[in-house]
Amino acid sequence: MALTRRSLLEQIGAMGGVGATYLAMEALGLAVATPAGAENFSLPKSSGNGRSVVILGAGVAGLVSAYELTQAGYRVTVLEARDRIGGRAWTIRGGDRIEQIGRPDQRATFAPDLYFNAGPARIPSTHRVILGYARRFGVPMETFVNVNRNAGWDFGGKVHPERRMVNDLRGHFGELLAKAIDQHALDKAVPKGELEMIRQFLAAYAQLDAKGKYRPRGSSGYSVEGGGYAQAPVPLGPLSFKELAPSRAVGLPFVFEHIWDMQATMLQPVGGMDRIAHAMYDQVKPTVRLNTPVRAIRRDGARVRIEHGPGEQATDADFCICTLPLPILKKIPSDFSPAKKTAISSSPDYLRSVKLAFESPRFWETDDFIFGGLAWTDRKNENVIYPSDRYGAERGVIVGAYCAGWTNQDNPDAFARLSHEERTRISRDSIEALHPGRSHLLGSGHAGRLHLNRGRWRRRGRPGTSRSAGATRGPRRSP
Ligand SMILES: Cc1cc2nc3c(=O)[nH]c(=O)nc-3n(C[C@H](O)[C@H](O)[C@H](O)COP(=O)(O)OP(=O)(O)OC[C@H]3O[C@@H](n4cnc5c(N)ncnc54)[C@H](O)[C@@H]3O)c2cc1C
Repeated sequence: MALTRRSLLEQIGAMGGVGATYLAMEALGLAVATPAGAENFSLPKSSGNGRSVVILGAGVAGLVSAYELTQAGYRVTVLEARDRIGGRAWTIRGGDRIEQIGRPDQRATFAPDLYFNAGPARIPSTHRVILGYARRFGVPMETFVNVNRNAGWDFGGKVHPERRMVNDLRGHFGELLAKAIDQHALDKAVPKGELEMIRQFLAAYAQLDAKGKYRPRGSSGYSVEGGGYAQAPVPLGPLSFKELAPSRAVGLPFVFEHIWDMQATMLQPVGGMDRIAHAMYDQVKPTVRLNTPVRAIRRDGARVRIEHGPGEQATDADFCICTLPLPILKKIPSDFSPAKKTAISSSPDYLRSVKLAFESPRFWETDDFIFGGLAWTDRKNENVIYPSDRYGAERGVIVGAYCAGWTNQDNPDAFARLSHEERTRISRDSIEALHPGRSHLLGSGHAGRLHLNRGRWRRRGRPGTSRSAGATRGPRRSP
């Protein structure tokens, strides 16, 4: 079969994903090279010259567009289907109504001052543009703890603190490399001087003894902690390779903090992720029409006509910026070119990223001294996330499940298909494994619980105790 450009790109896409395909398209001259990083806009002040733009969607992308174009003198209208702005940047607080198809509306009952970021929760320091808007609009930021050496990793039915997993693995790899050097296995591959340097470096880097054996010196934790003069600390012995590498622990959790957009310092807006969207909304409020679902995207000569609700309405404009997620856009009738329609309709469906959260007394802080960060598990809930706000407060919101398909892209959809009770049970069991004897504080059986699946909440039990909530639909990979 002849190799066409299309089949070549499909093969590259299958192996390397969207990024690789896009690079290949650029190389073939089929796509315009984009700048390596987003930078601040600098549209000339009056470049809009009164021309009109209709923006579809009032998520962060739509609100940024509205702000910048308004500043540049365009006449802007934003059409948003929901009764709120922010889109996926959704923060849920007590009293919020959650609507979802096929189930009754729910109302969140989190205590005042508590919130749950059901969508995005962390902003890397490299997301310069959004951080610039936060500063410009006076949204205070605080640290989002993305990594916590004191948090547990629950793999293969065993829980170990992250510090033990990470440090022991480094020690074992260091020992292996030292062994290879000492047994002259690398003599042909690396110049002698360099080998000596590496060997010397490994002694400190991997905590090796004089014979090249990994001997933990306390970075992995102590079996007996030091006390005054009398009691010398006793470092924990190393876990074996077998104990370090079961199931999903093989890869991702070890390198998570090194991923470009996961590296410290990570940030979060004080008071919830939607604070940034709301600060933008304050700038462009008169341009935004809520409860206005887009139904069709039409051309009208050189202009655009958007058909939308409520009822039978239409908005005409010189330009349109569409920020609707592709799975929605592909269902909306449009006058896009056949090629664009094919591209839109062949985009993969998004993952059902599931988050489920409980309100609870902060036993992870008071009993286990865990302040922020993530626990990892090979259970279906994937992550437990500890709150990075208001340390020492009496209560907090602990995320008992964040299914993002980190290592298994099928897991979020499978988790989303489970009943509310099952997802809650899995999340509670996971927290129980990490904090034995404490999951009852999450209110199981006799506590009120809220659960959200792609915008759907379910609540049971008495209000005023612990609550849970969770689940939004997200992109195939999100931080
Ligand atoms: C669970 C989860 C976790 C995430 N974590 C992070 C993170 O930690 N950090 C990070 O940087 N990013 C994260 N992301 C990604 C981030 O949320 C998105 O990249 C960002 O919010 C997308 O913004 P947007 O404006 O492009 O799209 P959206 O927020 O999806 O906005 C689209 C808007 O269009 C509206 N709309 C839909 N249909 C119609 C219609 N027919 N008519 C009119 N309006 C319509 C929607 O209501 C919505 O308001 C996460 C996403 C999810 C789901």
